[in-house]
Amino acid sequence: MALMPRENGGGFVRCACGHRHWGLHGAAGLLLTDPARGVLLQRRAWWTHHGRTWALPGGAVHEGESAWQAATREAEEEAAVRRGALRPTAESIVDHGTWRYTTVLATARLTIEERATSIESAELRWVDPDEVADYKLHRDFATAWPDLRAQLDRELVVVVDGANVVGSRPDGWWRDRAGAAARLRDRLAGLAGAGVPDGALGLIDRPHWSWWPRVVLVVEGQARGTAAVDGVEVVSAARDGDSAIVATARAARADRPGDHVVVVTADRELRTRVEAEGATVRGPATLLNLLAP
Ligand SMILES: [Zn+2]
Repeated sequence: MALMPRENGGGFVRCACGHRHWGLHGAAGLLLTDPARGVLLQRRAWWTHHGRTWALPGGAVHEGESAWQAATREAEEEAAVRRGALRPTAESIVDHGTWRYTTVLATARLTIEERATSIESAELRWVDPDEVADYKLHRDFATAWPDLRAQLDRELVVVVDGANVVGSRPDGWWRDRAGAAARLRDRLAGLAGAGVPDGALGLIDRPHWSWWPRVVLVVEGQARGTAAVDGVEVVSAARDGDSAIVATARAARADRPGDHVVVVTADRELRTRVEAEGATVRGPATLLNLLAP
């Protein structure tokens, strides 16, 4: 919670819940997991709001900032955590109407060399998730912790049956299959950046939760050779697209068993095969409704 003038979002909001909250545009915190070290907690200096309690690096959202931008800016200001070392996985919003708090979940991609760089931060510590509840936690973090803990270091992986999704809308795709696959890929890249509301997929039954997915587009036939772009991996299936999709789902589950793997297809036989790999299946309409036109 870096000190800042009111025009930067600093200031208290008196809220319908009966509490006072920091941040005129809401607040955000970073829940950073390093699988080898635990989660990064911060003990707040005694003189701050909820001083001496343990919580997450974070603070007021500036005007026009996303929660991800705010949480990572604060983590850099308070704990020298660099945004480029993080992979965001999900965010969870507690909405009080006049005020909201967003917890941004991220996993360390590189070694984090944290240090307390703000006078408001008394101490930083990596804590085993099993031991977090033993700390004297900030009231709101204590309430949120069980839900957050269940999703630490878990990514959403969306595997898209390109031919099936492209073929689900009669928009002339048959005249230019490669072009249609590239357009789908570009719209998927937008989704990867914007995030997917959990409610649209019904994964963990948390409507206030959203995911930044890892997207894998599987293409075949004339769409083979579609290039990857930022946010979208592309698998070009040499012969059998379905088997490539099954193999992709299997590999995702083998690499990171905690991840949520969603395969997008309307193909019933493929559905049975990927469900046997532990994946969840959603139809093309569910995905297309999430994409910007
Ligand atoms: Zn409130």
